[in-house]
Amino acid sequence: MTTIELNLGQIHARMAAACAQANRCVTSVQLLAVSKTFGADAVREAVLAGQRSFGENYIQEAVEKIAAVRAMQLAGAEALEWHCIGPIQSNKSRLVAENFDWAQTVDRLKIAERLSAQRPEGMAPLNICIQVNVDGGSTKSGVMPADVLALAEAIVKLPRLVLRGVMSIPDDTPDFEAQCDLHKRAAAIFDAIKASAMPGLERFDTLSMGMTGDLEAAVTAGSTMVRVGSGIFGKRSYAAASQ
Ligand SMILES: *Cc1c(COP(=O)(O)O)cnc(C)c1O
Repeated sequence: MTTIELNLGQIHARMAAACAQANRCVTSVQLLAVSKTFGADAVREAVLAGQRSFGENYIQEAVEKIAAVRAMQLAGAEALEWHCIGPIQSNKSRLVAENFDWAQTVDRLKIAERLSAQRPEGMAPLNICIQVNVDGGSTKSGVMPADVLALAEAIVKLPRLVLRGVMSIPDDTPDFEAQCDLHKRAAAIFDAIKASAMPGLERFDTLSMGMTGDLEAAVTAGSTMVRVGSGIFGKRSYAAASQ
């Protein structure tokens, strides 16, 4: 077994234990493998170990990696899903619309409108999560909770997007209860959008939260997608990564 395969097994075991603890079905939480800063060979190993969904932060790096992985013609490649989980500047929105299956970090209508307009006709609609700012830091990306419903109402009207859920990146804290509190805020926002029953929520099913250090708390709070990087691929070196 490769290290990546072993690590994936350990993360799945942690997810299963957290689900059991929270009385949730193991199939209710998906694993997004965050491959930022790691090359196409690392993705290949993960694909060979059965992983299908990958998250990337740096758009240019991701576009090159997606092409390199595609060229490998791996078994199972037709089911690969690429999620953009890094900040999306206006001048990068076209690359996101043309190369990714999901954009999880939408926090402004302007970006959503560009993604919809730029999504190629031949591709399925782009899956969208609204990034919410659950700890209130004004310098952080993410919509403030009070503004989320209005943004959701605007996004569901855009023709080439499908609103799938909410994502959050709370500040690091080692304390389990504090992690749960922050994750519960994102869960409450997810529930509020769902309860609004606005048109266009037919596929609204994703609460993306939890990383290597806090996936148990996230699962406890209701996460349906944990985004795990270092727990699968190892420690990152940022030298090679670029926006
Ligand atoms: C890097 C990153 C992750 C993965 O973090 P790890 O701590 O390595 O698991 C998850 N989500 C986002 C948005 C990230 O930028």
